[in-house]
Amino acid sequence: MTAVNAASAIADEPIVALKPPVGPEAFEYKNLRQGEFWRHIPAYEAVDEKTFLDHIWQGRHSVKTPDELLSTIQKLASPDFIEDAKRGFMRAPMQVRVSPYMIALIDWSDPYRDPIRTQFIPLASRLLPDHPQLSLDSLHEQEDSPVPGLTHRYVDKALFLPLNVCPVYCRFCTRSYAIGGDTETVEKAVLATDPKKWERAFKYIESRPELEDIVISGGDTYQLSAKSLKAIGERLLAMPNVRRMRFATKGPAVMPSKILTDVAWTDALTSIVDQGRKLGKDVMLHTHFNSPNEITWVTDKAMRLLFERGVMVRNQSVLIRGVNDDTQTMQLLVKRLGYMNVHPYYVYMHDMVKGVEDLRTTIQTAVDIEKFVRGSTAGFNTPLFLCDAPGGGGKRDLHSYEYYDRENGIAVYTAPSVKPGKTFLYFDPIDKLQPDAQARWRDETTQREMIEAARAKAS
Ligand SMILES: *Cc1c(COP(=O)(O)O)cnc(C)c1O
Ligand code: SF4
Repeated sequence: MTAVNAASAIADEPIVALKPPVGPEAFEYKNLRQGEFWRHIPAYEAVDEKTFLDHIWQGRHSVKTPDELLSTIQKLASPDFIEDAKRGFMRAPMQVRVSPYMIALIDWSDPYRDPIRTQFIPLASRLLPDHPQLSLDSLHEQEDSPVPGLTHRYVDKALFLPLNVCPVYCRFCTRSYAIGGDTETVEKAVLATDPKKWERAFKYIESRPELEDIVISGGDTYQLSAKSLKAIGERLLAMPNVRRMRFATKGPAVMPSKILTDVAWTDALTSIVDQGRKLGKDVMLHTHFNSPNEITWVTDKAMRLLFERGVMVRNQSVLIRGVNDDTQTMQLLVKRLGYMNVHPYYVYMHDMVKGVEDLRTTIQTAVDIEKFVRGSTAGFNTPLFLCDAPGGGGKRDLHSYEYYDRENGIAVYTAPSVKPGKTFLYFDPIDKLQPDAQARWRDETTQREMIEAARAKAS
């Protein structure tokens, strides 16, 4: 037998199937919503593709009041649902603002269970009492803020908040202390939203040589004009100490078409990334997808454009009850992001903020989901699950608790390189605990005892 014949004989041997073939359900992540999916919404029935994708049209037609919601979806939802939303809007700590893109992706035949409705439209009937240990600004960002609009908590990185508006408002926003307009229940702190005020933050960053990494968030950098985006980017790139920057925006998840239609904005971002590359500085986009339902052909097209331009994107999700708090949904989200070359970076425990107890879940749930997700795709496409410890301890690997009292829902964290010597507590939502533990949380004395016991076990 010649060498060539031997090789072809080997090639002809049957392939041994070590693994069973995968069924079509394994490819669900590639199954993106296609076509003019908005046309079933009464108000968008006559809206063509060009109009629907236009970011200005999207902004103008965002739903901000129960009346606007009703006139948009009309007969798609029951009068009971609209009434429930009306009362929900009144009691919510966040203003409401939902893009048409999001409205079109809500399953209006079952809005109570829909993951997108859950994130953006509060319903009075679903609200739960807040946890007794909960506060607004649970991350104490204002305490680590040397100048307005800048949080310097970690040694080498800082969070710059140049504006306090977003293309949508998320019910679960960490910064509900500052984001959006005042609501019936919360008066907002003032962030530096005026370009002249940004200069104070820039001066501070320049004065701290250890600051190498700047997160530009808000609010949402989608709402910065192309000119402001470029000005901020270039001002920071010019600082010798700044080596890394990330622009944070929820935009790709809630209004992906802006990347395609707001040419000036996308060009400004690309220009900063290109300038950064020439200077040896890393500039990225950080975004915030929570549900696989948020991802459609429009998202795919927008992410493709950024990829072609060399703009890398990372994603940070929040673990939200009824949105992504089960293994299958989280795995689908992670696979779908990876498919679009968006790296799933973090999944956060829901912060302990006011008025959204129905959205939180337990540390144990997160541990279980993480175990399931890890191993299903590339490691760099597998998110790290985090708890941003209330009280300013910063981000902690969820599994790194010093002690976790599962029964009473108390996890104790430490953060030696952020706040040495201090402990930080995260509390599971009370309605997820057994009835006897729920009863213990109703009594202030037992509350204190449980917390003290958990701290003692941790040390
Ligand atoms: C999240 C955060 C950062 C960035 O942290 P990474 O873990 O590097 O993504 C920086 N500053 C503050 C205050 C933050 O909350
Ligand atoms: S986009 Fe971000 S900053 Fe704005 S409301 Fe949502 S979570 Fe808050």
